[in-house]
Amino acid sequence: MKLYERLVNELKSAKERKVYNDIKLLESKQSDKIKINGKDFLNMCSNNYLGYAGDKIVGDAAKKSIDKYGFGPGAVRTISGSFTIHDEFEKALAKFKGFEATLLVQSGFQANTGLIPTITTAADLIISDELNHASIIDGVRLSKAQRAVFKHMDTVDLERVLKENKDKIQGNIFIVTDGVFSMDGDIAPLDKINKLAKQYGAYTIVDDAHGEGVIGPKGRGSVAHFNLEGQIDIETGTLSKAFGLVGGFISGKKELIEYLKQNSRVFKFSSSLPQSFAEAGLAVLNDLENDGKRLEKLWNNTKYIQEKFKKAGHSIGTTQTPITPFMVGDEATTTDLAKKLFENDILASPIIFPSVPTGKGRIRLMISSLHTKEELDHVYNVITTEYKKLIQNKK
Ligand code: PMP
Repeated sequence: MKLYERLVNELKSAKERKVYNDIKLLESKQSDKIKINGKDFLNMCSNNYLGYAGDKIVGDAAKKSIDKYGFGPGAVRTISGSFTIHDEFEKALAKFKGFEATLLVQSGFQANTGLIPTITTAADLIISDELNHASIIDGVRLSKAQRAVFKHMDTVDLERVLKENKDKIQGNIFIVTDGVFSMDGDIAPLDKINKLAKQYGAYTIVDDAHGEGVIGPKGRGSVAHFNLEGQIDIETGTLSKAFGLVGGFISGKKELIEYLKQNSRVFKFSSSLPQSFAEAGLAVLNDLENDGKRLEKLWNNTKYIQEKFKKAGHSIGTTQTPITPFMVGDEATTTDLAKKLFENDILASPIIFPSVPTGKGRIRLMISSLHTKEELDHVYNVITTEYKKLIQNKK
């Protein structure tokens, strides 16, 4: 089939199967509400956990930085150099995350694709949780290492894979997992994973995109949540969620970071995170260190709405974090429910295959510290009512 014939067919089929992604045009900054077509919608689908994405603290820092450092970085850092603000933010992030050193990259996606293929060889084995993020999967695909998958958060299955391979593998073994899983909101059992890693001499890599700023003391993330600072070998992260920015990072021993600076293709062949984003990131870090109110509000909101769903007997899966999946099931009902929410001025994306397995569709409600109790009550009332109506109509 000719290229465009195939593309058009696939797009048509996605629309028919109701799995086509309808991308909204936003007319205001990320907040508890967001403007679309001149109308305010209640925003339930942003990873702006702590409200920094539209915050004055962040904006002021970025403006100050633009005055001093301008906009673009000029070239890749190996050619045009690093700005002092990159260095300052990297040091502060490393401290925050409990690692010796940190390397900033352009996104969380780039952190995984810049790390995994760079430090692994054909003699190595990467063992990955079956529900790991797409960027880990792509990082593994770019690597020459052998690969294996363990059942989601199942450390018995992980040990089976370790046992089966420990004498076969000539090189190093890496266990890689999300810290918090983005579709279900469950927290990887890093304590058990770390124990197994130590027992079998494996290295651990944790992608903490949804953990940082959200769990652990002062939002230090999954590793701190389990009190495992200094135990987990490498962490990748993002600035696009609780930090309210865009950007990614890799943390580990100083030799690892030095090696990545010399060898990671993402670092060597792609221009760096803009200076203003590093400055804004530093402002967020300082605020996190000095003020716990946003984190407290985030968790109060999370408990408030999740308790309501639980009391009503509606499944929100296995979440342990502000990620609140309102479980629906089939793809069509999930997208229909999202449409009903939209008609009621609530923006909440349907999460369907391939982001989650077929038949496991859900409306993922992302709770933020910015939401008010009234807003959460409103979402609860609308989603439960509209869901009941849809189910009745299907009978
Ligand atoms: N890892 C995980 C676990 C994520 O949820 C995401 C964001 N969807 C990423 C990595 C990618 O982060 P970014 O948006 O910064 O590329």
